[in-house]
Amino acid sequence: MPLSEIGRQAPPGEPGAAPRATCRVPVVVEAPQHSGLTGPLDYLGEQAWPPGTLVRVPLGKRVVTGVVWSAPAGGDDEVAFDLGRLKPLTEVLTGLPPLPAAWRQLVAFAATYYQRSLGEMALMVLPPELRQLDAEQWARRLKRLDKAVAGSSAELAALAAHAGDETVAAGAVGPEALPTLTAQQADALTELATPGPKPYLLWGSTGSGKTEVYLRQAQRTLDAGRQVLMMVPEINLTPQLEARVARRFAGRQIVSLHSGLTPAQRLRNWLMAHYGHADIVLGTRLSVFTPLPRLGLIVVDEEHDPSYKQQDGARYSARDLAVYRAHLEKVPVILGSATPSLESWFNALPPAEGGTGRYVRLAMPARVGDGIMPTVRVLDQSKAPKGVAGREPPPLARELLEAITQRVERGEQSLVLLNRRGYAPVLHCSDCGWKSGCPHCSAWRVFHKVDRSLRCHHCGFTERVPRACPDCGNTDIAPVGRGTERLEEQLAEVLPGARVGRIDADVTRHKGALEAQLASVHAGEVDVLVGTQMVAKGHDFRRITLVAAVNPDAALFASDFRAAERQFALLLQAAGRAGRDAGVAGHSEMWVQTWHPTHALYQALRRYDYADFARQQLKEREMAGLPPYASLAMLRAEGKTQEAAQAFLVEAVQAVQHLADELGGITLYPAVPTPIQRVANVERAQLMIESRQRVALQRLLGAAQPLWLALAPQHRRSGLIRWAVDVDPLSI
Ligand code: ADP
Ligand code: ZN
Ligand code: ZN
Repeated sequence: MPLSEIGRQAPPGEPGAAPRATCRVPVVVEAPQHSGLTGPLDYLGEQAWPPGTLVRVPLGKRVVTGVVWSAPAGGDDEVAFDLGRLKPLTEVLTGLPPLPAAWRQLVAFAATYYQRSLGEMALMVLPPELRQLDAEQWARRLKRLDKAVAGSSAELAALAAHAGDETVAAGAVGPEALPTLTAQQADALTELATPGPKPYLLWGSTGSGKTEVYLRQAQRTLDAGRQVLMMVPEINLTPQLEARVARRFAGRQIVSLHSGLTPAQRLRNWLMAHYGHADIVLGTRLSVFTPLPRLGLIVVDEEHDPSYKQQDGARYSARDLAVYRAHLEKVPVILGSATPSLESWFNALPPAEGGTGRYVRLAMPARVGDGIMPTVRVLDQSKAPKGVAGREPPPLARELLEAITQRVERGEQSLVLLNRRGYAPVLHCSDCGWKSGCPHCSAWRVFHKVDRSLRCHHCGFTERVPRACPDCGNTDIAPVGRGTERLEEQLAEVLPGARVGRIDADVTRHKGALEAQLASVHAGEVDVLVGTQMVAKGHDFRRITLVAAVNPDAALFASDFRAAERQFALLLQAAGRAGRDAGVAGHSEMWVQTWHPTHALYQALRRYDYADFARQQLKEREMAGLPPYASLAMLRAEGKTQEAAQAFLVEAVQAVQHLADELGGITLYPAVPTPIQRVANVERAQLMIESRQRVALQRLLGAAQPLWLALAPQHRRSGLIRWAVDVDPLSI
């Protein structure tokens, strides 16, 4: 049936409800959080439109899109209701099947859990186009989509055809030969053959064949006539996975969903999923909300990745919502990682080992095909010769430089990681002490040599580099420290003849630039690749036999309690980029250039002992009362002054202190400036709320929300700009 015909038929009424000429229709609309509107608004409809129907309704002077949220209760309550007071619905977007009950439940849960209004949550997770079209535009759009859907099989064949090394003849997408499973893959799949209600944590080394396990389980799901939702942390990783999935499931309908699609593509793919046409949906965090009428499996790859947490607006965790959704829809969920988040790890540890045992752990420690992880070499910087007085030390220690030179001579590739882009983090005048601060932020502006600019990485404020010191006129202002741009330049100098390339957010800003740069690495046109964490993730490099982290120590002493966990994951993932081809695995190396070689993190990394690292971390977290042993929420405020931001937080705490005392086990910490206190001339402060019990925290926040909403307006007058709650914050 063409899309434009689906749902044309009269919508089914609520079972048992007698048809009525007019009735109350509760509709959820997008309303700003501070409006205090949390639930649906009532409108007048010609009939009881089923919950999940999309409608257009008047709101103030505008007409906005909304979702019919529930059926009128019926009975006496309904009769007593004064229908005459209600405004009628403007129009109904017929042609779109109602959003399913499971979708509404997920949205309602997310709104409650993350302390946002229902309307904001519900509308935010719909494709942007859907929120803007009126009924007429909608009908036209559906007509066009019919053609797009018909053409999608051809599109997929084309995708599979240029999908990578295993060439598939254009137009003829045949089934690929399946690899023989490793013993560990086979064991994992045996467990997954009869999935129980618990989430699965697939803990497998990089290159252990986790993706193969996802694909086999996906095959079972498709065979059972169900849909698969596969999530990856970053847009950059979707084309690669999409190609692999397309090769495996020739003839199946595969769509992707992420913010890099055009609005039209996103709407089309979302509709394919919602109509049940799409068999597999691949997407980033926003895809967790995709309505899937035949959902049968959820996969969250690299489940530890911070990108699964939305960092503004409704700060939801797609990983956690995926677990909730799987529970709600009674389908299995697989969380996969070589370095699971400590939360997931804790849940997958049996109670006898101090965990909760809520998840089932499937372990795959071995790499496929006798692949071994590179040897870790921890290089003690404190023993290295110091730079000549007044000059900066060389970027790489002598031993490391030699090891890279050997690779260049052998025609192998090296990856040098530095998590700081730009040329130098700051410019400095040695005469008067001037530094390139940002006038709008409490941060330095970074020197970018390529266009001789000083750029603030927080507010974006950019200026040409001054010829002379703005304070004293000294013409000798110099870069201090080193970013990827400078490292690239320095490596080219000390490695004459080597082809040095770079991948970071600056070089890949333009569409297609990342793909082009990756292709040239794959084609062997680069000997030494300098990059930020962007390259450490997921990319399947074949010829890299050396990975070096040249400045990894900052994370050891960061105030953020998750910094070490993130750094361990990053380094291990980076190590996984080396020696992926069995032929070169034997002499692959991971170098760590550090001032703290005996630090427990590096010692665990040396042995690739995630379990041991997790044990240390969990012990520290338990003693400090931090997640996963406690639940956190962060109340953040922004103001014209730091005082204004903090004043709101102080009163916000006072307003709920008695509640916290009643509930027990809750600590409200003092308000403090955020680590970067001022961004774009806005002062920021925050306050941490810690609770031994998740439920108690939820109760407190639920009760606090209306109090804080009531408190905010008076503070606005004295300089509060905005405030928000971040539940389960990632960074503190
Ligand atoms: P992970 O997702 O754990 O990093 P992948 O699933 O990407 O690992 O597997 C790594 C490589 O090994 C891929 O090139 C994949 O095609 C290959 N592979 C996976 N399983 C097998 C197997 N059982 N036999 C041979 N090769 C395999
Ligand atoms: Zn000066
Ligand atoms: Zn700035």
